[in-house]
Amino acid sequence: MASESGVKIGLECHAQLLTKTKLFCSCSTDYQNSEPNTHVCATCLGLPGALPVVNGQALRYGIKIALALGCTIQPETIFYRKNYYYPDLPRGFQITQYDFPIALNGLVTIENTENGGAKERVVRIRRVHMEDDPGRLVYKGTIDTAKY
Ligand SMILES: [Zn+2]
Repeated sequence: MASESGVKIGLECHAQLLTKTKLFCSCSTDYQNSEPNTHVCATCLGLPGALPVVNGQALRYGIKIALALGCTIQPETIFYRKNYYYPDLPRGFQITQYDFPIALNGLVTIENTENGGAKERVVRIRRVHMEDDPGRLVYKGTIDTAKY
């Protein structure tokens, strides 16, 4: 389904849930002013034998978001490892539910009041899915001046 202008635009929007601990372990998410690698454990480092346990509060927040977006909660969802290489992904995989999301098919109606008239637009939401934030790159200095 195309919009009235014939242009279809897809956006992938990310939100960090305000949980006290990470999505699959009990490490603190309060890392903003911490030294690198101080909020890590065997699970979030992806060490052999470490098993992730999903954060219940994060799931509740994800369901709240999905309901607020008018999505249908799925009776089953699956988290799995998505393997890929990226500099901010030292363990080599991300745990995601991209293919088996927590919710599907939402709608959000927004009102555009520009140009003097009120006009409603419907934004379709394809899916709400959850995944861990695999890591973060911090350069000492800038990307141009950092030695590593
Ligand atoms: Zn951890």
